[in-house]
Amino acid sequence: MQQYGEEQLKFCQALPKVELHAHLNGSLRDTTIRELALKRNLDPALTKVIEMGDRTLSECFKLFDIIHRITTDHDTITRITCEVIEDFAADNVHYLELRTTPKTRSEHGMTKRSYTEAVLKGMQEAQQGSRGQNITVRLLLSIDRREDTAAALETVQLAAELHSRGIVGIDLSGNPTVGKWSAWEPALQEARRQGLKVTLHAAEVYNPEETAAMLHFRPERLGHMCCLDERLEVLHYNTGIPVELCLSSNIITESVASYPEHHFHPFYSAGHPVILCTDDSGVFCTSLSKEFAIAAHAFQLSNSQLWQLSEAAIDHTFLKEEEKEQLRKKFQIARATLEGCFPL
Ligand SMILES: [Zn+2]
Repeated sequence: MQQYGEEQLKFCQALPKVELHAHLNGSLRDTTIRELALKRNLDPALTKVIEMGDRTLSECFKLFDIIHRITTDHDTITRITCEVIEDFAADNVHYLELRTTPKTRSEHGMTKRSYTEAVLKGMQEAQQGSRGQNITVRLLLSIDRREDTAAALETVQLAAELHSRGIVGIDLSGNPTVGKWSAWEPALQEARRQGLKVTLHAAEVYNPEETAAMLHFRPERLGHMCCLDERLEVLHYNTGIPVELCLSSNIITESVASYPEHHFHPFYSAGHPVILCTDDSGVFCTSLSKEFAIAAHAFQLSNSQLWQLSEAAIDHTFLKEEEKEQLRKKFQIARATLEGCFPL
């Protein structure tokens, strides 16, 4: 069921936007997945999920599995990075913080470093091409919750070494029921020591001890925060840590029952900083414009509130102060054009 009106979507497409929570592998185009699956002769019974719109959770998992099977060589990693950036740029995203887990796949001659280099090459190619001119991109390296301290530290070290090439932070993600906070905390402390920013996937499932430890760590941002009790909610509000909220993702993965019940509403109403994000726009068949339109419809937000929400995200990027200022200026230029077409 469509969760917004067409006019609403047009405004959200015209709105300049900032995307801070997008996983590379989850943001692939269906056409590219189809092409690569065909090239690798994947079983058609498996690949029919590519043709489906509005996928269920189990179909999404199948698609992630296909993506895992087709992203095994460096050229593909470079290509998909470039395409994902072009797609965000086409959706009027002016600044993108893309995240990905550096993978060691020795059977394919891939190391964490060579994987990351392939992503950086894709970033460079996108920004040199005509479709990537109007977007600024930075990269976050993700630690997978299945990783141990040594593997997590290797990712942090890599990010620190490649900092000058656009890697600005570290993310913690993966299956929320796997792993222990104590395994990654030393690596996250090291990230901080090296001047990298940190964002954590948090409270995707109810785990009060871990969520409290994450809040105590004081990352620069948190992702999701779906499953909180009253005590954690107060603790979180008191920290003021901005939250990346991904509406479609939370509904499809069944972390939240319905859009009107989404915790965007209490957070936003309390004035707590929130950022609308896509999570996995390809797999969940969404875009940042659609996420804004869904929020507008579900929470009765005016054009002017949507503008404020979009512009405020600049404050929460991992950019340097002077870069944030440049982005704000770009937004002001875009505002003049937007006001010519829509009431603001
Ligand atoms: Zn995520």
